Amino acid sequence: MIDYLHLLLESVGEDAGEVASYIPELANADPDRLAVAVATLDGEVYVAGDADTEFTIQSISKPFTYALAIADQGLDAVLERIDVEPSGDAFNEISLDPDTGRPRNPMINAGAIASHALVSGDDADARVERILDLYSRLAGRRLSIAEDVFESELSEADRNMALAYMLRTVKTLKGDPADVVRGYTRQCSVSVTVRDLARMASVLAAGGKTPDGDQVLDPAVNLQVLSVMATCGMYNSAGDWLTSVGIPAKSGVAGGLMGVLPGQVGIAVFSPRLDAHGNSTRGVRMFERMNHDLGLHLMAPV
Ligand code: GLN
Repeated sequence: MIDYLHLLLESVGEDAGEVASYIPELANADPDRLAVAVATLDGEVYVAGDADTEFTIQSISKPFTYALAIADQGLDAVLERIDVEPSGDAFNEISLDPDTGRPRNPMINAGAIASHALVSGDDADARVERILDLYSRLAGRRLSIAEDVFESELSEADRNMALAYMLRTVKTLKGDPADVVRGYTRQCSVSVTVRDLARMASVLAAGGKTPDGDQVLDPAVNLQVLSVMATCGMYNSAGDWLTSVGIPAKSGVAGGLMGVLPGQVGIAVFSPRLDAHGNSTRGVRMFERMNHDLGLHLMAPV
């Protein structure tokens, strides 16, 4: 497996696109970093490249916080507030469904900010602490927040602030929208490596259970999360992704990309330059190659 992963990195080819710059601190990332990790359900992690380089989780946090919102509020209550339809919109689209007032899904920012607001906690800090605890249990180590990225994103968070105010008009969000955006931005600033993300993905692949037998997520919640990742995880290229790779996945603007092969493995890649949809250019290509070489696609006959 290790040999294959090294070959994969060598053969990934030319890079294209730009690192995200709307979060000023992300523009300082080394664009040439490249890493891959594959985690099995029994806790083995195979890596190649810059596997110990830390980067911020960004939107890859969204499925996990959605899971916590469902665990706290129940699925029906969350569905009343956040739909599960692919939007075909960009991740930061300012949109709520005109008929229901719901964000179209929890993987775009509107739905992710709503999920964050639905996590239980006495105040904003308590919500963030519970979220960080969950991510840490999934990763199998204590994670922390990259304060420089957090400060940087918060200083330019007007668009997410607009989304939070909109969510208050439909009563999805109670309290101070600025507090919720602050918490959501902290959630996006959790620092991870591809090892962490592959391990988190492997827990989703195992129905919510860690290799040590800790049932972190209820299997029904886990299934809901994977289903939404499959249809909405790659934003307005979700259709392309499902046809060309065929597994539930989630990308983030720092260049991380996590995929889940249910019952088998969790996979994560990292390469900071992004395509027009905000997905890692070489990250997407690596997954396409893995599907070609290893046959990841869920719809392929075994
Ligand atoms: N924190 C980022 C934002 O809210 C996450 C976006 C992403 O990774 N696609 O804009």
